[in-house]
Amino acid sequence: MQINIITIFPDLFDRVLDFGMIQQARKKDLMQVEIVDLRDFTEDKRRTVDDRPYGGGDGMVLKPEPIFLAVESLKEKAGEPQHVVLLTPQGKLFNQSLANRLSLRKNLTLICGRYEGVDQRVTDHLVDEEVSIGDFVLSGGEYAALVVVDAVSRLIPGVVAKGASVLQESFMDGLLDYPHYTRPPDFRGWQVPEVLLSGDHAEIERWRERQALELTRERRPDLLKPGKNAKDRD
Ligand code: SAH
Repeated sequence: MQINIITIFPDLFDRVLDFGMIQQARKKDLMQVEIVDLRDFTEDKRRTVDDRPYGGGDGMVLKPEPIFLAVESLKEKAGEPQHVVLLTPQGKLFNQSLANRLSLRKNLTLICGRYEGVDQRVTDHLVDEEVSIGDFVLSGGEYAALVVVDAVSRLIPGVVAKGASVLQESFMDGLLDYPHYTRPPDFRGWQVPEVLLSGDHAEIERWRERQALELTRERRPDLLKPGKNAKDRD
């Protein structure tokens, strides 16, 4: 999978892609990430990427020309259409099923907004989908892009050694995860639940299912509503 991230702060990505699943995916050559400096697609001496908003108001808006040129150059380089995603609070809420869907694509181009956002013509005529990582406002799309890349990277087949461990996690079956314990069995008087030490795998499985269900019922009953399953959303 080829992921391109278009940003005005390419240096922000310097080390962040060198850890964990993203690093594994890149090492195994299952995912390539290219950081594209939006300023490379400006045509003036000052490499201007933003301008004042028409109609007035505070802040600046990312200009359409460099963003269009950047995406067009990626398309040309790859010799095929790109799936273009704009990170924005106005987008579809990112969830596990959207991560699954994106992980099946051959390529992904993520546009990171800054300031007040990007010129609407980018959204209307260049972008395939808009994605938000939550109902809050970040200062830049870079952080949101990293969330998307991390969630997607661990779903690419072959990245996680044991495929099953990804499938058993929160949201995959529409439930939150069950509690995990490791050694020691007694830590400061707090015991690991008996059943986990029993060696009875069927009983452990039932206990985990029950825990996941109870936790979901308590904290995220919305996930249990028919048709609201994480699998069915997006
Ligand atoms: N004026 C905009 C906020 C711009 S924040 C508004 O009120 O909606 C600057 C940039 O940060 C955005 O262009 C977007 O790329 C990114 N961003 C902010 N919050 C985000 C979120 N919840 N999800 C994804 N991207 C976000």
